[in-house]
Amino acid sequence: MTTLSVDEKAIIGVIGLGIMGSSFALNLLSRGYNVHVYNRTKEKAQPLVKKGATFHSTPRDLASVADVIMTSLTDEAAIDSVAYGEDGFLNGAKKGASWIDLSTIDPSASLKHSEAAKQAGLYRLDTPVVGSKELASKGELIIHVGGNYEVFEKYESFLKELGKSIIYLGSDGNGHKMKLAINLHLGLLAESFSEALAFSQKLGFDTKTFVETINKTPIGNYISQGKGPKIVEGNFEPAFSLNNLFKDLKLINTQIAKTGAILPMTKVAMEEYSRAVQNGDGQKDFSVIALEIQRKNGLI
Ligand code: NAP
Repeated sequence: MTTLSVDEKAIIGVIGLGIMGSSFALNLLSRGYNVHVYNRTKEKAQPLVKKGATFHSTPRDLASVADVIMTSLTDEAAIDSVAYGEDGFLNGAKKGASWIDLSTIDPSASLKHSEAAKQAGLYRLDTPVVGSKELASKGELIIHVGGNYEVFEKYESFLKELGKSIIYLGSDGNGHKMKLAINLHLGLLAESFSEALAFSQKLGFDTKTFVETINKTPIGNYISQGKGPKIVEGNFEPAFSLNNLFKDLKLINTQIAKTGAILPMTKVAMEEYSRAVQNGDGQKDFSVIALEIQRKNGLI
């Protein structure tokens, strides 16, 4: 197979214009790339079209012109729905183009997609990301890469347009495996912060005092600094939705069953996040877990 190099003339297709996909597309547009987009809900493409992106009405149509196809979708089922079938991008892709999957999905789905890409004559990397929409729109994400090393070398400089730290972790699916390990920590961190916050309230402090105090100590971290002030304000506008974190926790559970890992805190946190989803908070930011713990403690 011959590869197409990713230069400013290359057509970059972005499929999935949610919180992250829109930010990837914006970043690439601001760097002068020729960006083509597809999203199931067409209206979400409008702000990008206004900034110069070209909209396609099917993934297949987009793939017929794209040199790089980036996917940023909720889960395996969402990717399957844009990849396979008559209008799927695998059906229309140019031979030797590449598929860069920035979604967080099950590592075994990554293997399945890699095989499908090979059949369609595409290069593929799993490239799940760590970071917020702000970092995505500035191209400052941390990207975990799984896939063939030679393909990684070919696309490394392009990935640097999306992230400030690109970490190659081995064969297909390894990017997604590491992403799950990182998101397990993220989920537990938010849960432990929420418990400490509720405990401080039980001790008689208000939430602002707790957050300001912890952030003056070396214990302050991504959650207490990034999410703490927003929790105090009651601002749960989604940067990373509870539904998406809960989706990842379910993927983590699958890997726990596969590997026999014994993770006691994970079990407890999973129950709390599950309750928060059942309480109808799934569309909010995952930091809404703080409300769940406050509710449990009769604090709200
Ligand atoms: P999001 O805002 O919920 O966007 C989800 C995207 O998937 C939308 O474009 C949605 O299309 C599409 N989609 C969902 N189900 C679909 C289906 N059945 N068929 C076709 N399209 C479907 O999610 P996000 O926050 O951008 O996250 C995207 C991925 O990145 C997820 O895997 C997430 O776990 C991961 N991630 C997110 C963050 C973050 O901070 N947000 C950070 C790292 C990784 P519609 O617009 O039509 O609904």
